[in-house]
Amino acid sequence: MTKENPFLVAQQQLDQCAKILKLDPGVQALLKVPSRELHVSIPVKMDDGSLKVFQGFRVQYNDAKGPCKGGIRFHPEETIDTVRALAAWMTWKCSLLDLPLGGGKGGIICNPKELSQGELERLSRAYINQVGRIIGPDKDIPAPDVYTTPQIMAWMMDEYSRGAGKNQFGLLTGKPLAIGGSKGRGDATARGGLYTVREAARELGIDLSRATIAVQGFGNAGYYAAYLAQELFGSKVVAVSDSQGCILSDDGLDAQKVASHKAATSTVCNFPGARAISDEELLALDVDILFPAALEGVITAENAPNIRAKIVAELANGPTTPDADVILYKNGVHLIPDFLCNAGGVTVSYFEMVQNFYMYYWEEEDVHKRLDQKMTTAYHSVLDTSRKYKINMRQAAYVVAVERVVEAMKLRGWV
Ligand code: NAD
Repeated sequence: MTKENPFLVAQQQLDQCAKILKLDPGVQALLKVPSRELHVSIPVKMDDGSLKVFQGFRVQYNDAKGPCKGGIRFHPEETIDTVRALAAWMTWKCSLLDLPLGGGKGGIICNPKELSQGELERLSRAYINQVGRIIGPDKDIPAPDVYTTPQIMAWMMDEYSRGAGKNQFGLLTGKPLAIGGSKGRGDATARGGLYTVREAARELGIDLSRATIAVQGFGNAGYYAAYLAQELFGSKVVAVSDSQGCILSDDGLDAQKVASHKAATSTVCNFPGARAISDEELLALDVDILFPAALEGVITAENAPNIRAKIVAELANGPTTPDADVILYKNGVHLIPDFLCNAGGVTVSYFEMVQNFYMYYWEEEDVHKRLDQKMTTAYHSVLDTSRKYKINMRQAAYVVAVERVVEAMKLRGWV
Protein backbone atom coordinates (compact mmCIF):
# COMPACT_ATOMS: atom_id res chain seq x y z
CA MET A 1 0.00 0.00 0.00
CA THR A 2 2.93 2.38 0.61
CA LYS A 3 3.65 2.81 -3.10
CA GLU A 4 0.04 2.77 -4.22
CA ASN A 5 -1.82 6.01 -4.78
CA PRO A 6 -3.88 6.23 -1.55
CA PHE A 7 -6.80 7.86 -3.33
CA LEU A 8 -7.03 4.94 -5.78
CA VAL A 9 -6.99 2.57 -2.78
CA ALA A 10 -9.83 4.54 -1.16
CA GLN A 11 -11.80 4.41 -4.42
CA GLN A 12 -11.26 0.63 -4.76
CA GLN A 13 -12.48 0.10 -1.21
CA LEU A 14 -15.59 2.10 -1.99
CA ASP A 15 -16.20 0.10 -5.20
CA GLN A 16 -16.11 -3.15 -3.15
CA CYS A 17 -18.65 -1.71 -0.74
CA ALA A 18 -20.87 -0.43 -3.58
CA LYS A 19 -20.99 -4.00 -4.91
CA ILE A 20 -22.10 -5.41 -1.54
CA LEU A 21 -24.74 -2.69 -1.13
CA LYS A 22 -25.74 -2.84 -4.82
CA LEU A 23 -25.43 0.95 -4.94
CA ASP A 24 -26.86 2.89 -7.84
CA PRO A 25 -23.93 3.68 -10.24
CA GLY A 26 -24.68 7.41 -10.02
CA VAL A 27 -24.54 7.37 -6.22
CA GLN A 28 -21.30 5.38 -6.38
CA ALA A 29 -19.82 7.91 -8.83
CA LEU A 30 -20.70 10.78 -6.48
CA LEU A 31 -19.14 9.03 -3.46
CA LYS A 32 -15.91 8.36 -5.36
CA VAL A 33 -14.92 12.02 -5.66
CA PRO A 34 -14.65 14.98 -3.24
CA SER A 35 -17.53 17.47 -3.18
CA ARG A 36 -15.10 20.36 -3.35
CA GLU A 37 -11.45 21.21 -2.90
CA LEU A 38 -9.49 24.42 -2.59
CA HIS A 39 -5.88 24.74 -3.79
CA VAL A 40 -4.06 27.73 -2.37
CA SER A 41 -0.71 29.48 -2.82
CA ILE A 42 0.53 30.79 0.50
CA PRO A 43 3.11 33.61 0.55
CA VAL A 44 5.30 33.69 3.67
CA LYS A 45 8.03 36.19 4.60
CA MET A 46 10.99 34.10 5.72
CA ASP A 47 13.38 35.12 8.52
CA ASP A 48 16.10 36.05 5.97
CA GLY A 49 13.78 38.59 4.32
CA SER A 50 12.98 36.44 1.26
CA LEU A 51 9.45 35.53 0.17
CA LYS A 52 8.55 31.86 -0.16
CA VAL A 53 5.34 30.52 -1.70
CA PHE A 54 3.92 27.29 -0.25
CA GLN A 55 1.18 25.14 -1.77
CA GLY A 56 -1.75 24.09 0.39
CA PHE A 57 -5.06 22.28 0.08
CA ARG A 58 -8.37 21.83 1.83
CA VAL A 59 -10.62 19.01 0.65
CA GLN A 60 -14.27 18.73 1.71
CA TYR A 61 -15.21 15.21 0.72
CA ASN A 62 -18.86 14.88 1.70
CA ASP A 63 -20.95 16.95 4.11
CA ALA A 64 -24.34 15.22 3.74
CA LYS A 65 -24.35 14.28 7.45
CA GLY A 66 -22.96 17.56 8.79
CA PRO A 67 -20.01 19.95 8.62
CA CYS A 68 -16.72 18.47 7.44
CA LYS A 69 -14.12 17.38 9.99
CA GLY A 70 -10.50 16.41 9.43
CA GLY A 71 -6.93 17.30 10.26
CA ILE A 72 -4.32 19.55 8.62
CA ARG A 73 -1.00 17.91 7.73
CA PHE A 74 2.32 19.73 7.22
CA HIS A 75 4.53 17.40 5.17
CA PRO A 76 7.21 17.75 2.47
CA GLU A 77 5.68 14.88 0.48
CA GLU A 78 2.06 15.95 0.84
CA THR A 79 0.00 15.41 -2.32
CA ILE A 80 -3.54 16.31 -3.23
CA ASP A 81 -4.34 12.60 -3.66
CA THR A 82 -3.22 11.80 -0.10
CA VAL A 83 -5.43 14.62 1.17
CA ARG A 84 -8.37 13.36 -0.95
CA ALA A 85 -7.96 9.80 0.36
CA LEU A 86 -7.75 10.96 3.97
CA ALA A 87 -10.81 13.17 3.49
CA ALA A 88 -12.74 10.17 2.14
CA TRP A 89 -11.66 8.02 5.11
CA MET A 90 -12.70 10.79 7.52
CA THR A 91 -16.16 10.77 5.91
CA TRP A 92 -16.52 7.04 6.57
CA LYS A 93 -15.00 7.28 10.06
CA CYS A 94 -17.35 10.07 11.24
CA SER A 95 -20.31 8.23 9.76
CA LEU A 96 -19.34 4.92 11.38
CA LEU A 97 -19.17 6.58 14.80
CA ASP A 98 -22.52 8.22 14.04
CA LEU A 99 -21.12 11.72 14.55
CA PRO A 100 -23.16 14.51 12.93
CA LEU A 101 -20.19 15.32 10.71
CA GLY A 102 -18.86 14.87 7.20
CA GLY A 103 -15.23 14.31 6.17
CA GLY A 104 -12.48 16.72 5.18
CA LYS A 105 -8.70 17.06 5.25
CA GLY A 106 -6.09 19.73 4.65
CA GLY A 107 -2.39 19.93 4.02
CA ILE A 108 0.56 22.15 3.21
CA ILE A 109 3.61 20.97 1.28
CA CYS A 110 6.40 22.03 3.64
CA ASN A 111 9.06 20.66 5.95
CA PRO A 112 8.23 22.04 9.41
CA LYS A 113 11.62 20.82 10.72
CA GLU A 114 13.29 23.40 8.45
CA LEU A 115 11.11 26.31 9.61
CA SER A 116 11.75 28.60 12.59
CA GLN A 117 8.92 29.10 15.12
CA GLY A 118 8.23 32.52 13.58
CA GLU A 119 8.05 31.10 10.04
CA LEU A 120 5.79 28.28 11.23
CA GLU A 121 3.45 30.77 12.88
CA ARG A 122 3.32 33.01 9.77
CA LEU A 123 2.68 29.97 7.55
CA SER A 124 -0.12 28.71 9.84
CA ARG A 125 -1.81 32.11 9.95
CA ALA A 126 -1.43 32.63 6.18
CA TYR A 127 -3.00 29.22 5.47
CA ILE A 128 -6.05 30.20 7.53
CA ASN A 129 -6.28 33.50 5.66
CA GLN A 130 -6.48 31.50 2.43
CA VAL A 131 -8.83 28.66 3.43
CA GLY A 132 -10.84 30.78 5.90
CA ARG A 133 -13.45 31.40 3.21
CA ILE A 134 -14.51 27.72 3.17
CA ILE A 135 -13.92 26.57 6.77
CA GLY A 136 -15.75 27.65 9.95
CA PRO A 137 -17.26 26.27 13.18
CA ASP A 138 -20.44 25.20 11.38
CA LYS A 139 -18.88 24.44 7.96
CA ASP A 140 -15.60 22.60 8.27
CA ILE A 141 -13.62 22.08 11.48
CA PRO A 142 -9.91 21.15 11.14
CA ALA A 143 -7.68 19.47 13.76
CA PRO A 144 -4.01 18.54 14.24
CA ASP A 145 -2.52 15.76 12.13
CA VAL A 146 0.98 14.83 10.95
CA TYR A 147 3.45 17.53 12.13
CA THR A 148 0.75 19.95 13.32
CA THR A 149 0.39 20.62 17.04
CA PRO A 150 -1.95 22.22 19.61
CA GLN A 151 0.21 25.38 19.33
CA ILE A 152 -0.40 25.52 15.57
CA MET A 153 -4.13 25.07 16.22
CA ALA A 154 -3.96 27.99 18.69
CA TRP A 155 -2.38 30.32 16.07
CA MET A 156 -4.91 29.26 13.45
CA MET A 157 -7.87 29.76 15.78
CA ASP A 158 -6.51 33.17 16.78
CA GLU A 159 -6.06 34.25 13.15
CA TYR A 160 -9.62 33.27 12.27
CA SER A 161 -10.95 35.01 15.42
CA ARG A 162 -9.17 38.23 14.45
CA GLY A 163 -10.86 38.14 11.04
CA ALA A 164 -14.27 37.47 12.63
CA GLY A 165 -13.79 40.16 15.29
CA LYS A 166 -14.72 37.72 18.07
CA ASN A 167 -13.44 34.52 19.67
CA GLN A 168 -14.04 31.51 17.44
CA PHE A 169 -12.85 28.65 19.67
CA GLY A 170 -15.02 26.21 17.70
CA LEU A 171 -13.05 26.77 14.47
CA LEU A 172 -10.88 23.74 15.10
CA THR A 173 -10.17 21.05 17.68
CA GLY A 174 -7.05 19.69 19.32
CA LYS A 175 -6.48 23.09 20.96
CA PRO A 176 -4.55 23.51 24.21
CA LEU A 177 -6.79 23.09 27.31
CA ALA A 178 -6.42 26.78 28.29
CA ILE A 179 -8.15 27.95 25.09
CA GLY A 180 -11.01 25.52 24.57
CA GLY A 181 -9.37 22.10 24.34
CA SER A 182 -11.07 19.03 25.79
CA LYS A 183 -9.90 16.86 28.65
CA GLY A 184 -9.18 13.29 27.55
CA ARG A 185 -7.93 14.18 24.03
CA GLY A 186 -4.31 13.04 24.65
CA ASP A 187 -5.00 9.30 24.98
CA ALA A 188 -8.36 9.26 23.14
CA THR A 189 -7.19 7.28 20.10
CA ALA A 190 -5.66 4.43 22.13
CA ARG A 191 -8.41 4.47 24.75
CA GLY A 192 -11.10 4.25 22.07
CA GLY A 193 -9.21 1.37 20.43
CA LEU A 194 -9.03 -0.45 23.77
CA TYR A 195 -12.80 -0.18 24.24
CA THR A 196 -13.23 -2.00 20.91
CA VAL A 197 -10.63 -4.58 21.94
CA ARG A 198 -12.56 -5.17 25.18
CA GLU A 199 -15.72 -5.88 23.18
CA ALA A 200 -13.86 -8.15 20.75
CA ALA A 201 -12.28 -10.07 23.64
CA ARG A 202 -15.75 -10.66 25.10
CA GLU A 203 -16.95 -12.03 21.78
CA LEU A 204 -13.93 -14.32 21.44
CA GLY A 205 -13.89 -15.42 25.09
CA ILE A 206 -10.44 -13.92 25.78
CA ASP A 207 -9.74 -13.00 29.42
CA LEU A 208 -7.94 -9.65 29.10
CA SER A 209 -6.41 -9.90 32.58
CA ARG A 210 -4.39 -12.84 31.25
CA ALA A 211 -3.95 -11.58 27.70
CA THR A 212 -0.59 -10.90 26.05
CA ILE A 213 0.01 -7.90 23.83
CA ALA A 214 2.50 -6.77 21.17
CA VAL A 215 2.67 -3.17 19.94
CA GLN A 216 4.36 -2.14 16.70
CA GLY A 217 5.19 1.58 17.01
CA PHE A 218 5.65 2.87 20.55
CA GLY A 219 4.58 6.48 19.75
CA ASN A 220 1.53 8.45 20.87
CA ALA A 221 -1.07 5.82 19.95
CA GLY A 222 1.15 2.78 20.71
CA TYR A 223 2.43 3.96 24.08
CA TYR A 224 -1.04 4.78 25.39
CA ALA A 225 -2.37 1.45 24.07
CA ALA A 226 0.32 -0.44 26.01
CA TYR A 227 -0.07 1.69 29.16
CA LEU A 228 -3.87 1.58 29.22
CA ALA A 229 -4.01 -2.16 28.46
CA GLN A 230 -2.02 -2.66 31.68
CA GLU A 231 -3.96 -0.07 33.66
CA LEU A 232 -7.51 -0.87 32.53
CA PHE A 233 -7.32 -4.62 31.96
CA GLY A 234 -4.14 -5.89 33.66
CA SER A 235 -2.92 -7.34 30.36
CA LYS A 236 0.75 -8.22 29.82
CA VAL A 237 2.68 -6.26 27.17
CA VAL A 238 5.40 -8.62 25.95
CA ALA A 239 6.81 -6.74 22.94
CA VAL A 240 7.02 -3.19 21.60
CA SER A 241 8.95 -1.52 18.79
CA ASP A 242 9.90 1.79 17.25
CA SER A 243 11.66 2.85 14.06
CA GLN A 244 15.00 1.69 15.52
CA GLY A 245 14.06 -1.83 16.64
CA CYS A 246 11.86 -4.23 18.62
CA ILE A 247 12.14 -5.60 22.17
CA LEU A 248 10.60 -8.66 23.83
CA SER A 249 10.26 -9.75 27.44
CA ASP A 250 8.28 -12.89 28.31
CA ASP A 251 7.88 -11.51 31.85
CA GLY A 252 6.18 -8.37 30.51
CA LEU A 253 7.30 -4.78 29.91
CA ASP A 254 6.21 -1.87 32.09
CA ALA A 255 4.94 0.67 29.52
CA GLN A 256 5.79 3.70 31.65
CA LYS A 257 9.33 2.48 32.31
CA VAL A 258 9.85 1.77 28.61
CA ALA A 259 8.56 5.30 27.87
CA SER A 260 11.07 6.80 30.35
CA HIS A 261 13.84 4.72 28.77
CA LYS A 262 12.78 5.98 25.31
CA ALA A 263 12.66 9.58 26.56
CA ALA A 264 16.24 9.21 27.83
CA THR A 265 17.73 7.28 24.88
CA SER A 266 15.35 8.14 21.97
CA THR A 267 14.50 4.46 21.47
CA VAL A 268 12.91 1.45 23.13
CA CYS A 269 16.00 -0.62 22.16
CA ASN A 270 18.32 -1.89 24.92
CA PHE A 271 15.62 -1.68 27.58
CA PRO A 272 17.02 -3.52 30.61
CA GLY A 273 15.75 -7.11 30.89
CA ALA A 274 14.38 -7.25 27.34
CA ARG A 275 15.94 -8.88 24.28
CA ALA A 276 15.99 -7.65 20.70
CA ILE A 277 13.81 -9.30 18.06
CA SER A 278 13.12 -8.47 14.43
CA ASP A 279 10.02 -6.67 13.17
CA GLU A 280 8.86 -9.83 11.39
CA GLU A 281 9.23 -11.78 14.67
CA LEU A 282 7.15 -9.16 16.51
CA LEU A 283 4.34 -9.37 13.97
CA ALA A 284 4.36 -13.20 14.16
CA LEU A 285 4.37 -13.48 17.99
CA ASP A 286 1.89 -15.87 19.57
CA VAL A 287 0.04 -13.11 21.46
CA ASP A 288 -3.63 -12.46 22.05
CA ILE A 289 -3.61 -8.91 20.68
CA LEU A 290 -1.36 -7.24 18.12
CA PHE A 291 -1.55 -3.46 17.75
CA PRO A 292 -0.03 -2.14 14.52
CA ALA A 293 0.45 1.48 15.64
CA ALA A 294 3.16 2.80 13.33
CA LEU A 295 2.92 2.82 9.57
CA GLU A 296 0.72 1.84 6.64
CA GLY A 297 1.27 -1.31 4.58
CA VAL A 298 3.12 -3.42 7.20
CA ILE A 299 0.87 -6.50 7.19
CA THR A 300 1.16 -7.88 3.67
CA ALA A 301 0.32 -11.04 1.71
CA GLU A 302 3.87 -12.26 2.58
CA ASN A 303 3.69 -12.00 6.37
CA ALA A 304 -0.09 -12.30 6.97
CA PRO A 305 0.05 -16.15 6.98
CA ASN A 306 2.51 -15.94 9.94
CA ILE A 307 0.26 -13.82 12.14
CA ARG A 308 -0.82 -15.78 15.22
CA ALA A 309 -2.49 -12.99 17.22
CA LYS A 310 -6.18 -13.62 17.87
CA ILE A 311 -7.03 -9.92 17.51
CA VAL A 312 -5.31 -7.38 15.25
CA ALA A 313 -6.34 -3.91 16.42
CA GLU A 314 -5.35 -1.32 13.80
CA LEU A 315 -4.45 1.89 15.61
CA ALA A 316 -2.38 2.99 12.61
CA ASN A 317 -4.08 4.08 9.40
CA GLY A 318 -3.91 1.47 6.64
CA PRO A 319 -1.46 -1.04 8.21
CA THR A 320 -2.98 -4.03 6.36
CA THR A 321 -2.93 -4.40 2.57
CA PRO A 322 -6.08 -5.62 0.77
CA ASP A 323 -4.41 -9.01 -0.05
CA ALA A 324 -3.48 -9.50 3.59
CA ASP A 325 -7.05 -8.71 4.67
CA VAL A 326 -8.25 -11.75 2.74
CA ILE A 327 -5.64 -14.01 4.37
CA LEU A 328 -6.32 -12.80 7.92
CA TYR A 329 -10.07 -13.29 7.45
CA LYS A 330 -9.54 -16.81 6.09
CA ASN A 331 -7.26 -17.65 9.04
CA GLY A 332 -9.86 -16.50 11.57
CA VAL A 333 -7.89 -13.51 12.86
CA HIS A 334 -10.33 -10.97 14.31
CA LEU A 335 -9.39 -7.63 12.75
CA ILE A 336 -10.61 -4.33 14.16
CA PRO A 337 -10.23 -2.04 11.13
CA ASP A 338 -8.46 1.30 11.34
CA PHE A 339 -11.36 3.66 10.88
CA LEU A 340 -13.17 1.92 13.73
CA CYS A 341 -10.18 1.15 15.99
CA ASN A 342 -8.54 4.60 15.83
CA ALA A 343 -11.76 6.67 15.78
CA GLY A 344 -11.41 7.70 19.44
CA GLY A 345 -9.40 10.76 18.38
CA VAL A 346 -12.06 12.26 16.15
CA THR A 347 -14.77 11.29 18.62
CA VAL A 348 -13.18 13.33 21.41
CA SER A 349 -12.55 16.09 18.84
CA TYR A 350 -16.29 16.11 18.26
CA PHE A 351 -16.80 16.34 22.05
CA GLU A 352 -14.45 19.34 22.02
CA MET A 353 -16.68 21.02 19.39
CA VAL A 354 -19.77 20.36 21.51
CA GLN A 355 -18.10 21.84 24.61
CA ASN A 356 -16.99 24.91 22.62
CA PHE A 357 -20.55 25.49 21.40
CA TYR A 358 -22.00 25.10 24.92
CA MET A 359 -19.17 27.01 26.62
CA TYR A 360 -19.30 24.30 29.28
CA TYR A 361 -16.44 21.88 29.83
CA TRP A 362 -16.72 18.25 30.92
CA GLU A 363 -14.72 16.33 33.48
CA GLU A 364 -12.34 13.69 32.12
CA GLU A 365 -14.53 10.82 33.35
CA ASP A 366 -17.50 12.22 31.37
CA VAL A 367 -15.35 12.21 28.24
CA HIS A 368 -14.29 8.58 28.90
CA LYS A 369 -17.87 7.45 29.50
CA ARG A 370 -19.21 9.04 26.32
CA LEU A 371 -16.24 7.77 24.30
CA ASP A 372 -16.85 4.24 25.57
CA GLN A 373 -20.52 4.45 24.56
CA LYS A 374 -19.68 5.63 21.03
CA MET A 375 -16.89 3.09 20.42
CA THR A 376 -18.86 0.16 21.84
CA THR A 377 -21.93 0.94 19.73
CA ALA A 378 -19.82 1.34 16.58
CA TYR A 379 -17.95 -1.93 17.23
CA HIS A 380 -21.17 -3.92 17.57
CA SER A 381 -22.75 -2.37 14.48
CA VAL A 382 -19.70 -3.48 12.48
CA LEU A 383 -19.66 -6.97 14.02
CA ASP A 384 -23.39 -7.47 13.38
CA THR A 385 -23.02 -6.30 9.78
CA SER A 386 -20.03 -8.57 9.18
CA ARG A 387 -22.12 -11.53 10.39
CA LYS A 388 -25.22 -10.47 8.45
CA TYR A 389 -23.44 -10.15 5.08
CA LYS A 390 -20.71 -12.75 5.83
CA ILE A 391 -18.01 -10.17 5.03
CA ASN A 392 -14.85 -9.18 6.86
CA MET A 393 -14.83 -6.45 9.51
CA ARG A 394 -13.32 -3.81 7.18
CA GLN A 395 -15.93 -4.37 4.53
CA ALA A 396 -18.60 -4.32 7.25
CA ALA A 397 -17.31 -0.97 8.56
CA TYR A 398 -17.60 0.43 5.04
CA VAL A 399 -21.14 -0.92 4.65
CA VAL A 400 -22.33 0.71 7.90
CA ALA A 401 -20.64 4.03 7.13
CA VAL A 402 -21.58 4.32 3.46
CA GLU A 403 -25.20 3.27 4.05
CA ARG A 404 -25.64 6.18 6.48
CA VAL A 405 -24.10 8.74 4.10
CA VAL A 406 -26.31 7.46 1.26
CA GLU A 407 -29.39 7.71 3.49
CA ALA A 408 -28.51 11.34 4.33
CA MET A 409 -27.96 12.19 0.65
CA LYS A 410 -31.30 10.60 -0.29
CA LEU A 411 -33.21 12.41 2.46
CA ARG A 412 -31.71 15.70 1.32
CA GLY A 413 -32.69 15.00 -2.28
CA TRP A 414 -29.10 14.93 -3.58
CA VAL A 415 -29.49 11.52 -5.24
P1 NAD B 1 3.92 8.85 16.48
O1 NAD B 1 4.84 9.55 15.54
O2 NAD B 1 3.71 9.40 17.85
O3 NAD B 1 4.41 7.34 16.69
C1 NAD B 1 4.79 6.49 15.65
C2 NAD B 1 5.75 5.47 16.23
O4 NAD B 1 6.03 4.49 15.24
C3 NAD B 1 7.10 6.05 16.66
O5 NAD B 1 7.46 5.52 17.91
C4 NAD B 1 8.06 5.54 15.58
O6 NAD B 1 9.37 5.33 16.08
C5 NAD B 1 7.40 4.21 15.25
N1 NAD B 1 7.83 3.67 13.95
C6 NAD B 1 8.11 4.33 12.82
N2 NAD B 1 8.52 3.46 11.87
C7 NAD B 1 8.47 2.23 12.43
C8 NAD B 1 8.77 0.93 11.98
N3 NAD B 1 9.21 0.72 10.74
N4 NAD B 1 8.61 -0.10 12.82
C9 NAD B 1 8.17 0.10 14.09
N5 NAD B 1 7.87 1.31 14.57
C10 NAD B 1 8.04 2.36 13.75
O7 NAD B 1 2.55 8.71 15.69
P2 NAD B 1 1.09 8.38 16.27
O8 NAD B 1 0.35 9.65 16.43
O9 NAD B 1 1.19 7.43 17.41
O10 NAD B 1 0.45 7.65 14.98
C11 NAD B 1 0.74 6.29 14.69
C12 NAD B 1 -0.30 5.78 13.72
O11 NAD B 1 -1.60 5.93 14.30
C13 NAD B 1 -0.36 6.53 12.38
O12 NAD B 1 -0.74 5.63 11.36
C14 NAD B 1 -1.47 7.53 12.60
O13 NAD B 1 -2.08 7.93 11.36
C15 NAD B 1 -2.43 6.68 13.43
N6 NAD B 1 -3.39 7.50 14.17
C16 NAD B 1 -2.98 8.26 15.23
C17 NAD B 1 -3.89 9.04 15.89
C18 NAD B 1 -3.50 9.86 17.10
O14 NAD B 1 -4.40 10.47 17.72
N7 NAD B 1 -2.23 9.89 17.49
C19 NAD B 1 -5.25 9.06 15.48
C20 NAD B 1 -5.64 8.27 14.41
C21 NAD B 1 -4.68 7.49 13.75
